[in-house]
Amino acid sequence: MKLILLGAPGAGKGTQAEAISRQLGIPAISTGNIIREALQSGSPLGLAAKAYLESGALVPDEVVIGIVEERVAQPDCARGFILDGFPRTIAQAEALEQMGLDADLVLSLELEDGIIEERLSGRRICQSCGASYHIQYNPSSKGDACNLCDGPLISRQDDQPETIRQRLAVFHKQTEPLKEYYRERGRLRCVDSQERVEDTTALVLSALKEAAI
Ligand code: AMP
Repeated sequence: MKLILLGAPGAGKGTQAEAISRQLGIPAISTGNIIREALQSGSPLGLAAKAYLESGALVPDEVVIGIVEERVAQPDCARGFILDGFPRTIAQAEALEQMGLDADLVLSLELEDGIIEERLSGRRICQSCGASYHIQYNPSSKGDACNLCDGPLISRQDDQPETIRQRLAVFHKQTEPLKEYYRERGRLRCVDSQERVEDTTALVLSALKEAAI
């Protein structure tokens, strides 16, 4: 199954992608995580992406499309994958189609901007594996360490109030039109992001079931 998770930053895409990945046994691919890892390792990709990431802008389409093309060619994607944070522009969606990798289903996680701002300020990610937590709604049982790999949990640099507002503006302008794009193609399902992670996961899984995928 090829699944796309759409939604504003902070709507819960990363957390749900991880949950569905465990449930279905297919990899979750987060372009944001790949870019952050590149930044941490100081690779040419990371250096090229640094300014975009830190200002809350999108990394240029051709760079991100290249990242995805390379990642989905890996053997673990043979049975399908979940894309978290890609596509984010119409050009990226068209590139995915041209790769012959049309999604079976596009799930849009819906959440109001005001709640998103609150959520992102409490978000923590694992510096080692990129797993996502929230200090109130989805805390790690190990405190400041990751449940999965014991790595340190940190606040993302782009989760600062000013950058959050910029990222939301970018989402509404460049990414939200994708909902119409996929609705026209009959692939879109919308799910309201809930306060409790497991409640959202239940809605997401039932949307998958309804779509008979
Ligand atoms: P995320 O972790 O998905 O919120 O992504 C963090 C940042 O990585 C974004 O604010 C962008 O700068 C960059 N990024 C991630 N995915 C994409 C994409 N599909 N297109 C362009 N930039 C992206």
